[in-house]
Amino acid sequence: MFGLIARPWMVTLGSHLVNFALFFHLPINWALRPVFKYFCGGENIRLSDSTIEKLSQYSVRTVLDYSAEGQTGEAALDHTLKEVLATVAAGDGDPRHAFAVFKISGLSDNSLLEKVSACGAGNTDGGRGETASRCEIDCLSPDELLAWNRVRARVRAICEATAAAGGRVMIDAEETWLQEAIDGLAEEMMARFNADKAIVFTTVQMYRHDRLAYSEALINRAESSNYVVGLKMVRGAYMEKERERAKKLGLVDPIQKDKAASDRDFDAVVQLCLDRIEHAHLVCATHNEQSSRFLADEMARRGIKVDDPRVSFAQLLGMSDHISFNLAAEGHRVAKYVPYGPIRKAIPYLLRRAKENTSVGGQTSRELSLIRSELQRRSAL
Ligand SMILES: Cc1cc2nc3c(=O)[nH]c(=O)nc-3n(C[C@H](O)[C@H](O)[C@H](O)COP(=O)(O)OP(=O)(O)OC[C@H]3O[C@@H](n4cnc5c(N)ncnc54)[C@H](O)[C@@H]3O)c2cc1C
Repeated sequence: MFGLIARPWMVTLGSHLVNFALFFHLPINWALRPVFKYFCGGENIRLSDSTIEKLSQYSVRTVLDYSAEGQTGEAALDHTLKEVLATVAAGDGDPRHAFAVFKISGLSDNSLLEKVSACGAGNTDGGRGETASRCEIDCLSPDELLAWNRVRARVRAICEATAAAGGRVMIDAEETWLQEAIDGLAEEMMARFNADKAIVFTTVQMYRHDRLAYSEALINRAESSNYVVGLKMVRGAYMEKERERAKKLGLVDPIQKDKAASDRDFDAVVQLCLDRIEHAHLVCATHNEQSSRFLADEMARRGIKVDDPRVSFAQLLGMSDHISFNLAAEGHRVAKYVPYGPIRKAIPYLLRRAKENTSVGGQTSRELSLIRSELQRRSAL
């Protein structure tokens, strides 16, 4: 399968065929099933259990990820809420689960997130999360304001349920034009729920040139208001889309000038969190060996225990198993996203995994070469 999706033309053709089949409601589950089985746990939580169990046998814990994206309409948004709450409940009292996770775009129409972001949603009610901010009230129509308050209530319900279950939850980062609304809500939830430890984690995308400064400011605010920031660090999944949009609209490109700059800021935020670990708990979400090793080495150098609950590593199911299982064998806290859901709803996620080969300079081919060399090693035994 990796051999197939390592060919860019195959991925482009496959994406067109999938979109064509979706548009005309043609049956395509059979064609997607092998890719789905590799990257996803199953079509529901129960069917994902064998994957959860298998990971747990190697001390790798699960992050159940309901993989429906780009939902619209209140019924679909409420359905996503129900699913995310089910993932929180699945983790309650089950040590095989590390975190819950969700995308705010699964709980809100994207157009609303975009509008709230454009009107500067960062400043809300000082962390209580009860009301919309002045600028939201001024920018949104009465109907939009009602819809936005429903989004806020959904996010709060997930964070509340997580806190009650003694769990932890991560809020994924998305496109820049939606992110300010997401950042505002995430910060509000952290201020509300992270009194002495991180229950709610926000995500920073280090491919953005403003995120190092943002992370520092976020930790400063948490320190002065006396709560803990939960920071999931990623490089970022939407680089081409971001660059294309910025070019088309004549905006400043939000992406770093090159990969080395993303790598440098990634390491800098690792250092920042470890320097200020009393107020910044960290999830290092990457398939990059060097970044994972850098964090593990820094922990050792600073005398932070491998199983310190303030530091975790995370990868996606089916990706970089050599990082996940080796770190877990060393005693580190490691989690894998286990996406689940109906096959058709998982298509955007699956296409992103397939496209990573062309968009990140060969992540898939890196997986393929690792699998090939391991096969060779075993056949030589
Ligand atoms: C557990 C987990 C959770 C994730 N959650 C999110 C999330 O919430 N939001 C999100 O957006 N992504 C998320 N991702 C995806 C992530 O952002 C990356 O796309 C993916 O992991 C590849 O980056 P890397 O650090 O693993 O590896 P690498 O292969 O070292 O880095 C590739 C990444 O570097 C960046 N990059 C590549 N070329 C350039 C360039 N020329 N200039 C600047 N930067 C460049 C891009 O971000 C690219 O994806 C998640 C990944 C994991 C493992």
